[in-house]
Amino acid sequence: MFESMEREDKLAARKFADLRKKPHIPAQLVDLVEQVRSIQSQARGQAVVPTVFAGPGSGLASVDQVIQGAPLLARERFSYDAAQAGQLFGRFQELLSGMGGPMAQSAGIVREEGETLMRAAFDAFMANDSSVFVEFAKRTPNAPRALSFLAQSSLTPSITALAESLSASLPKDRTWDQGTCPICGSLAFHSVLSGKEGVRVNCCSFCRAAYRTVRLQCPYCEERDAAKLPYFTADEEPGYRVDACLSCQGYIKTTDFREFDRPSLPALDDLESMSLDILAMKRGFTRPTASAWGF
Ligand SMILES: [Zn+2]
Ligand SMILES: [Zn+2]
Repeated sequence: MFESMEREDKLAARKFADLRKKPHIPAQLVDLVEQVRSIQSQARGQAVVPTVFAGPGSGLASVDQVIQGAPLLARERFSYDAAQAGQLFGRFQELLSGMGGPMAQSAGIVREEGETLMRAAFDAFMANDSSVFVEFAKRTPNAPRALSFLAQSSLTPSITALAESLSASLPKDRTWDQGTCPICGSLAFHSVLSGKEGVRVNCCSFCRAAYRTVRLQCPYCEERDAAKLPYFTADEEPGYRVDACLSCQGYIKTTDFREFDRPSLPALDDLESMSLDILAMKRGFTRPTASAWGF
């Protein structure tokens, strides 16, 4: 359910080379994401996470319960490496300051508010509560997502490290019936078709697990009627498609590189295919999750 960090680093190097060839993706954004991803990759290996989860009160579901649709450990029960997240928050805030413009202004406000805002943002992200981020966005309309970017980017390495250690207790290569992540119960932010048969692998917006799931199913409302699950592509974005749902009006972008020799890393595929988000929204579909970078 998780790539090794070595393999991710190799894929990322190729992926950033591809991203730099896309004129519509701002170079400054690619630079930022490249630095953040590299710091996160190291941090994931160093994160201090609880290794023993057992007994009543641990919040851990049994494998049978997960097979029936319960998350192994619900998002609200996740813990994170607070010392690491605090350090990363400071580093990423400096990166934003170095960008100048609205991002730097937004980072300046975050710095002024110090620990209190950071803790509030961490708590809100863990609880999947958007109110702190919505309030912050009103104060910095030119960089509305700066705080959610900082919180998400700082917490993700230790959340992923914990999810990876938890995943050892789940069966490998299972096709999960649920649309949501079997580890933490969160929604997917991206999907990938892989292998000759086009197996669908969804990627979790919270813990970043990649889990195999039903090929034809809305990841949000679990609609399985093919007539209600249209998909569309754009000529300028070969290798990507939008899978939409007429029942809940949601959409998810899907990487389909089966005809190409191209590297896929869902968090970067999401960035590479951002023009499809605009297309999907123009058609009236909405995406229930933020991008992999909190934007
Ligand atoms: Zn998850
Ligand atoms: Zn749906």
